[in-house]
Amino acid sequence: MKIKSAEFETSATGLANVPRLAQPEIALIGRSNVGKSSLLNLLAERRDLARVSDLPGKTRLMNFYSINRNWRLVDLPGYGYAKVSKSERADFNEAAADYIEGRKNLRAVLVLIDSRLEPQPIDLAFVEWLVETKVTFGVVFTKTDKQSVSQTQASVARFRAVALDGLDPAPAIFLSSAKTKAGRTEILRYIASRL
Ligand code: GDP
Repeated sequence: MKIKSAEFETSATGLANVPRLAQPEIALIGRSNVGKSSLLNLLAERRDLARVSDLPGKTRLMNFYSINRNWRLVDLPGYGYAKVSKSERADFNEAAADYIEGRKNLRAVLVLIDSRLEPQPIDLAFVEWLVETKVTFGVVFTKTDKQSVSQTQASVARFRAVALDGLDPAPAIFLSSAKTKAGRTEILRYIASRL
């Protein structure tokens, strides 16, 4: 897909003030600092459409970006700033959860996972919850430039085994790097297929 235009449209605190429907939406979500803003900029081919930061947990707003004036990328608030134990219900951002459960024009959620880490309890809890909502989702493993291909493959295999085993349909999986631009074409192709 060619990106002809990418513009910030609006921010929303909850479903009450999201943009009016009409355009299909693809949402990005993940733990704070996973590389969500960087992926958004990579997909939109803009250097600073979303703010990239070393400080985790900076925003609790949903940000809507209009792409090619006919679909939207939605940057959902990051989750998991606080540590969550396995027994606790994960404290996902309420606005994001409401949006995912209630947004009619949501075509897919992309869950971002740091490719360098062991499966994190909050990511597992979030994916489990996503499966329950029956929303279509894909998994993007970020920052793959920071380690070897075999380390990334091992990490993906571990995550699949604990979080994605037996899911039907199997979620799409992507390996990405904002630095090398790996994954961009594949993710945009997936998005196009969902619009
Ligand atoms: P967000 O909090 O999830 O939006 O994450 P950001 O996009 O702000 O990124 C957090 C930090 O990780 C920043 O310092 C980014 O430069 C860095 N980062 C994000 N993606 C990548 C990547 O693919 N490769 C590398 N090497 N660094 C990345």
